[in-house]
Amino acid sequence: MARIAIGGFQHETNTFAPSRADYAAFEAGGGWPGVQYGEPLFGAVEGANIPAAGAIRALRAMGHSLVATAWAAASPSAQVTDDAYARISGELLSRLKGAAPVDGVYLDLHGAMVVESHDDGEGELLRRVREVVGPRVPIVASLDLHANVTRAMVERADALVAYRTYPHVDMADTGARAARLLDQLLRGGQRLAAGFHQLDYLTGIPSQCSFIEPCRSIYRELEALESRDGSITLSFTPGFPMADFAECGMAVFGYGANAKAAVERLRGVVADAEPHFALELHAAADAVRRARSRGAPGAPVVLADTQDNPGAGGNGDTTGLLKSLIEQKAQDAVLGMLIDPASAARAHAAGLHSTLDFSLGGKSGIAGDAPLAGEFTVERLGDGRFTCTGPMFKGFRMTLGNMALLRSRAAPGVRVVLASRKCQAADQEMFRHLGVEPRASRIVALKSSVHFRADFEPIATEVLVVKSPGPALADPAEFKWTKLRKGVRLRPLGPAHA
Ligand SMILES: [Zn+2]
Repeated sequence: MARIAIGGFQHETNTFAPSRADYAAFEAGGGWPGVQYGEPLFGAVEGANIPAAGAIRALRAMGHSLVATAWAAASPSAQVTDDAYARISGELLSRLKGAAPVDGVYLDLHGAMVVESHDDGEGELLRRVREVVGPRVPIVASLDLHANVTRAMVERADALVAYRTYPHVDMADTGARAARLLDQLLRGGQRLAAGFHQLDYLTGIPSQCSFIEPCRSIYRELEALESRDGSITLSFTPGFPMADFAECGMAVFGYGANAKAAVERLRGVVADAEPHFALELHAAADAVRRARSRGAPGAPVVLADTQDNPGAGGNGDTTGLLKSLIEQKAQDAVLGMLIDPASAARAHAAGLHSTLDFSLGGKSGIAGDAPLAGEFTVERLGDGRFTCTGPMFKGFRMTLGNMALLRSRAAPGVRVVLASRKCQAADQEMFRHLGVEPRASRIVALKSSVHFRADFEPIATEVLVVKSPGPALADPAEFKWTKLRKGVRLRPLGPAHA
């Protein structure tokens, strides 16, 4: 039995996004539990599809004793402020010092955190954790599939393990996989051999879904390589192609005696897949036209407003797709969630069944976007407190603030779900909270890129990825990169960064 420190600090940073993640953003959590210090950490994550929850359960089952330090996550956005980083990492480190001596450390990290003063937020955190525990105590971290894994991260941790699914239905399972690696390191008493490669092209996030090619085959090959060897743990991270720093992008890595050769094989598989990471994107007006003719109650067409995905740094308040739904007078259509606390408060103040003028969304200053003005009727109100039930967010206890369901007067077939706090529309409970059953619609428009597929693809007759103005560009080549390392192709088979 070993004494193991548990911590976590997750943020996915889109350096091109409109707002930064301050301490309040980590207190709010954006769908995740708010920031936790000490013992309450265990209860806050328990039972949810969260990496720390899976690691805690697995480590306890192995008989280890656990000490909680700090755990925090916020909605993806632009850089984490220096203040938030100092406060959260400061608590984590001082509690780690207070818990000394520990035999091992497990960290629940994202892997794509950019801080105002540190491009590699996790690399810096791992450096500080290593400084506290010294060179011999194993540190193992689980990572998001969207991690931009750096050399510093690989050097400073004994092992890193990433999710294998996008939508991330295996977050808790990945925590458990990290726990097994940590246990293996504690028993073995020495570091495992590691392999690590960064790839030289970027891919847009809609094409990284593990349900579709080429990622489906890449992850299948990854697992085949693991089971052929029996003693290695491999990861492939397609990365988060919206963080402007040198090491942004895809990577493969692994641990075990034969890790180097297996990682090299996996690198070849990902390199060969480059032409297959193609994207099919639809203009909002075209997508709505197609959805109107193909969707039916019971078999909706699902539209993914990918470039305003709050899960990729959007504020969830752009109006391009909503405008098209209203202009084309779509029937049985619902869009969610539009994040607009002022409009949600206005709906609550006006009360049920009242009809009034709103100026919806469009408040993030995104080029080509503006608020949508119009008359809407308040059909339902909610307090934003509910528990998710879909495969990805299962067990997440949402606190999204004032929520409201509005119906357009200009296009009475169009309804909008408003929420006050940012969260990606990846769970049907976000609609049911306001009495909307998504399956009963003809068109369901979602502020999400891929995560929605876990809960919504089973009810969809068709999924269309929509390209409408927003900060989470589906084509990484459209960003103005300044710090990315030279030679990286900005999209599959695309131009190299000069
Ligand atoms: Zn992710």
